[in-house]
Amino acid sequence: MATIQLEVVSPDRQVCDKEIAMLIVRSTGGELGILPRHAPLVTGLVPHAMRIKLNGQDEQLMAVGGGFMEVTPQKITVLASAAEEPENIDVNRAKEAYARAKQRIATFKQAPKEHQEIDIDRAQLALARAMARLTATHTAFD
Ligand code: ATP
Repeated sequence: MATIQLEVVSPDRQVCDKEIAMLIVRSTGGELGILPRHAPLVTGLVPHAMRIKLNGQDEQLMAVGGGFMEVTPQKITVLASAAEEPENIDVNRAKEAYARAKQRIATFKQAPKEHQEIDIDRAQLALARAMARLTATHTAFD
């Protein structure tokens, strides 16, 4: 089976370096599936759970907090602001981050003029990072 190398780097470590069959990511321009011998590409990534297909059957998830992806025909490089494999995700921390962000967004939406101290874009991004971590660990959220 044809494979492509996937390297994922976060600011503090190399999170992954292995041969895979396919990577499915959410880029700033929408969802992309990257197969071996893909055309060269550079794009931004939004916070989400990447899907790593190891072969025809096995798939792994990995949370990314956002970043950039470079694709060449032989290699995919993801430079992530944060990236965690499911076993390294603290689910309670992600649940707390999710609840905090939801609460901030709700407070702002109820009375935007009274809550100009809330950075709504920042809260939305924090929510998306928490959702990526909960999705990568198959944890339900509403
Ligand atoms: P929090 O509000 O809980 O800090 P965050 O989304 O603001 O979450 P990030 O800025 O994306 O956190 O990440 C900061 C560092 O903490 C990164 O190294 C990231 O891998 C790690 N991290 C954040 N949340 C978790 C989690 N739930 N489990 C494991 N590591 C996490």
